[in-house]
Amino acid sequence: MLPIRIRLTFWYVAIFSITLGIYSFFLFAYISHTIIRNTDREMVAEAKECRSIFLEEMTKPSFEELDEELKGINYYLQIYSINGKLLYTSANLYKTNLPVDTRAFNSIEHDKYAFRTVTVFRHTDVRTLLYPIVVNGAIQYYLTIGMPLNAQNGFLSMLGIILTVVTPIFIVIASWGGIIIAGRAMKPVDEIIETARRIEAGNLTEQITMKTHNDEIGKLARTFNDMLLRLKKAFDGLSQFSQNVSHELKTPLTVMKSGIEINMIGERSSADYRELLVSLLEEIDQMTRIIDDLLLTSLSNTESIRATFTRIDISNLILQTIDFLGVLAMDKKVSLDHTVPDGIGIVGNERLLKRAFSNIIDNAIKFTPPGKKVFVSVTRDGTGVIVDIRDQGAGIKEEDIPKIFDRFFRGKSANAEGHGLGLSIVKWIIELHNGRIDIISTSGGTNFRVVFLPR
Ligand code: ADP
Repeated sequence: MLPIRIRLTFWYVAIFSITLGIYSFFLFAYISHTIIRNTDREMVAEAKECRSIFLEEMTKPSFEELDEELKGINYYLQIYSINGKLLYTSANLYKTNLPVDTRAFNSIEHDKYAFRTVTVFRHTDVRTLLYPIVVNGAIQYYLTIGMPLNAQNGFLSMLGIILTVVTPIFIVIASWGGIIIAGRAMKPVDEIIETARRIEAGNLTEQITMKTHNDEIGKLARTFNDMLLRLKKAFDGLSQFSQNVSHELKTPLTVMKSGIEINMIGERSSADYRELLVSLLEEIDQMTRIIDDLLLTSLSNTESIRATFTRIDISNLILQTIDFLGVLAMDKKVSLDHTVPDGIGIVGNERLLKRAFSNIIDNAIKFTPPGKKVFVSVTRDGTGVIVDIRDQGAGIKEEDIPKIFDRFFRGKSANAEGHGLGLSIVKWIIELHNGRIDIISTSGGTNFRVVFLPR
């Protein structure tokens, strides 16, 4: 396939040449037609003039006035009688006759002029007019005028030369200009190709530098640059994520390994081995939880989950979650209160929503000191169904708020429990349910507000 710049130039030059060719052809045809028409008009005017003089002088012995009239003229004149007898010849014809078919005289209609272009004196083109002279209602004579076309032909051949020489020159200039313009237009595309070639997975910082940003290519480059930024962000996120996953899984593995190594030194009692097995089981549980959570957010096909949505009683769901976590709160001496009106419903997946609210309420209990309160309420207003979870913990630092939904993010105050995946799962579940989470946090506590917008 030929490069675009060559194809563009080819089509541009082809269309330009055809247009210019058609234009030149019609221009030439129009000008030559106009020249002949003007010559014909001039001949008719001269014929009328000569006819009048001829009719006045025809009874006289000689055509003195006609001779006088025709002195220095640029055309030839002859007059015939209807039966083909030559009555008058202009002096400039010498002994030559204009080519006139006297046998055709009878076939010419009244007042019809017959024009022809003939060659006389070997190579002089002459335009002839056969002009009938009517006397007493019948054609009696024929006047013929021959107008040499030297000047007109000279002009037309000069015009022809100009058009046939100048048109190809224009086409050459246009092709040259076309190649340059197409080359310039395509240059940024070359830059894009070059940049795209240089880009590898680990090198997404490359950007296309563009001089102009407002044309289509500029927009393409900008879109390409934006895409690179997004890819870079996604790639950075992914490598950060992989690092975090490795780190999170490595910690329990290291604990397990060192536990096993210590127990391998010397003889151990069966109670020691049992203790080791229990701690190994705990670490394995922890790893299983991390892997389960990762699988939940990474592999789930949101469309197939949405297909499982049914109408659920959110009031009941929140009450069940509070019940389930009540033991935890009691253990920590945190009071867990609620205001949940009956029968508020939303559309969703019960198991996932339970998971989301138990994560938020679990955090609230975790981050609230003993003796303080966690309060859960469900309301419905014009914006949708609202679930508030308020605690009296130390709050979340303002700069941490945008990060707490990131996978593996854990605040400085976070205790040993947890692995920083809880809130990322919450966010994923709530957004899946067409909801959003707002956080208001002060040093006196945090309010997680989940709003389910109407569908
Ligand atoms: P984890 O609780 O396992 O650390 P999460 O994703 O559930 O992970 O929470 C991320 C971080 O958000 C926590 O480490 C903590 O710093 C902060 N956070 C979450 N909920 C609260 C809360 N109610 N009060 C204060 N900080 C919180």
